[in-house]
Amino acid sequence: MRIIFIGPPGAGKGTQCKRLAAYLNIVHLSTGDLLRATKSASALGRLVASYIDSGRLAPDYLVMRIVIRQLEQTAARSGCLFDGFPRTLNQAQLLDEYLAANQQKLDLVIDLHVRQDELVARLLKRAQVEHRPDDTRETIASRLRIFHSQTAPLLDYYQDRGMVRRIDGMQSPDEVFSQIQACVDAQKQQ
Ligand code: AMP
Repeated sequence: MRIIFIGPPGAGKGTQCKRLAAYLNIVHLSTGDLLRATKSASALGRLVASYIDSGRLAPDYLVMRIVIRQLEQTAARSGCLFDGFPRTLNQAQLLDEYLAANQQKLDLVIDLHVRQDELVARLLKRAQVEHRPDDTRETIASRLRIFHSQTAPLLDYYQDRGMVRRIDGMQSPDEVFSQIQACVDAQKQQ
């Protein structure tokens, strides 16, 4: 299966994707993790860090290069969970083109929904534990704005294909996971 997770920063995408990838035994492709791993003293690493640390989206060409490199790995050919990707309409269209050219298809889009005040509280709490440079109050606000302006519109793009399942991310992680599991199991029956 190929599943896209769409949700604002702090919605719990990473946690849920890890569990779901293990449940389905498919590759977990997190562009945030991959981009963070690219941060280094090299010129490319500094460029990537300048985007991530300020909460701006990395350029599509760079993200697509990283994603396609992962999709070319044998393990990802049989299924993949996209965590934090696509984040722009352009990325979604480029992914569609890549999948069509490789006779692959998307199965499901999970829309993980969490209230804005709860997101900010979760991210500020995470800042104390993980010390991510992009979890400051200012950067969080900018990331949430970018999510609403650039990423949330993707839901309409996929809604037209009847692929979107909305999940209430305000529940406990176990409850969220069992709802996701139910959607995935129902999709597998089709
Ligand atoms: P995340 O771990 O998903 O919250 O991503 C952390 C940061 O990595 C984001 O704020 C962006 O700067 C960058 N990033 C992750 N995924 C993408 C993407 N698909 N397109 C552009 N930038 C991304």
